[in-house]
Amino acid sequence: MAKARLDKILAASGFGTRKEVKKLIKEGLVTVDGEPAHDPGMHVDPDTQFIAVAGQDVEYRKHLYLMMNKPPGVITATEDRSHPTVNGLLDPHLARRVFPVGRLDKDTEGLLLLTDDGKLAHGILSPRRKVEKEYIAVIDGPIGEAEKLAFEQGLVLDDGTLTKPAKLKVLEDGAHPRVAVTLIEGKYHQVKRMFATLGRRVLHLKRIRIGPLVLDEALSPGDYRPLTPDEEAALL
Ligand code: URA
Repeated sequence: MAKARLDKILAASGFGTRKEVKKLIKEGLVTVDGEPAHDPGMHVDPDTQFIAVAGQDVEYRKHLYLMMNKPPGVITATEDRSHPTVNGLLDPHLARRVFPVGRLDKDTEGLLLLTDDGKLAHGILSPRRKVEKEYIAVIDGPIGEAEKLAFEQGLVLDDGTLTKPAKLKVLEDGAHPRVAVTLIEGKYHQVKRMFATLGRRVLHLKRIRIGPLVLDEALSPGDYRPLTPDEEAALL
């Protein structure tokens, strides 16, 4: 990468807003090639120069990727006048930067990816890429071979759309079975509408996977963390 301003590199690497990282620089906490850097506007090449903050190496990331365990009750949007949003759960300096990739309903929980990488978001959402999305759902009535076959063969939704082949697996039988659903597309309310065509209602819905990215169960609802380098590599 070409040279860029030191404050810009630090802000992009998650060390805070431009104002906050300028403060770190002024306080003498930032070094470039081992020498204290006092000028936020100093031009640095992160590919060939070593930047550190309080002795910790800075790994320059062009983009930011966050995994959130979306709680119920918030809408998947950056901002909204009347509802709490997923971006509202983030630190302000992150909330200004990222947007959610795709959408989960207000009452749906689980894996949500937030990023400032439009190209990656586009790839994940593109129907041509057929990225799998896996959900765990609790259903209000029995699920048998007929329902599994219908998911596999494709269903005609209320608006006439034919769904692409989807997988349906029963994880726990009973009056309210727990099932795993895997889709390769993401139409509005798709899981709920697919079950509705079979006369079933989804009582609870949680997304647990997007392609290779699996929800970290250590994240409590509403919590988030940056993707690990391995998760990032698998996704890109
Ligand atoms: N399908 C739904 O019905 N809702 C979601 O939030 C995601 C998939």
